[in-house]
Amino acid sequence: MRVLRGVVLRLLFHESEVPIDLSWLETTPMTTLKWIDLRCPVCESVFESMAASSNDEAGHDYTIDPGTPMSMAVAMLPFLVHVCRRCGYTGAVSDFGDDVEITNDVRARVWAELAPQLGTSVRIPWLALTVAGSDKYDGAARIAEWRGGDARHVAELWVRAAWCCVDEDDVEAERYYARHAARWFAKALDVYGEFDDDERTTMAYRLGELWLRIGDTRQANAWFERAGRSS
Ligand SMILES: [Zn+2]
Repeated sequence: MRVLRGVVLRLLFHESEVPIDLSWLETTPMTTLKWIDLRCPVCESVFESMAASSNDEAGHDYTIDPGTPMSMAVAMLPFLVHVCRRCGYTGAVSDFGDDVEITNDVRARVWAELAPQLGTSVRIPWLALTVAGSDKYDGAARIAEWRGGDARHVAELWVRAAWCCVDEDDVEAERYYARHAARWFAKALDVYGEFDDDERTTMAYRLGELWLRIGDTRQANAWFERAGRSS
């Protein structure tokens, strides 16, 4: 239980060098970590995984409230995706639902590409806690892509992988994932038209910010200019 207690304390008091703002305690539902049972749609294994949930929403996908402090949200990210310890299939609670259908092609790719990387690392249950959040989101983003998910959804998963790297202090990996996120957001914006007019300016700004983080000021400026033109 010491591991769990450490995780919970970290969730609550992450980044202790900044003043701790506890006002969210009064405005957002209490967040807890709990073990949930999941059935893998790829290999049919049933396994337990540690999930963040609100008091009243056990087993459902937990959404990060916009009012949640960033450090809190980042610390929670690894508990919003789950990894099958047999085949490496990774996703949110809803990706393990009874209605999820996996094609033979996706199943084959999970076994070939994720099982060696993620499956073996979580075979001992308590080690599940040590799988890096970025690795989980890396797997989840690839599966979302293979399943033909919205470009925007795929992009969001890459963003989350990048955020986990901030927490993991891995600048190189953060850039790598941010680059994937930027590419997928650009696709969502220009190829698939997944954003409405109101969102397009915000997304262009967001892309500018992503490229700044990546360190490509030329790309960043192009997106900021575009955001400026359309606002
Ligand atoms: Zn599985």
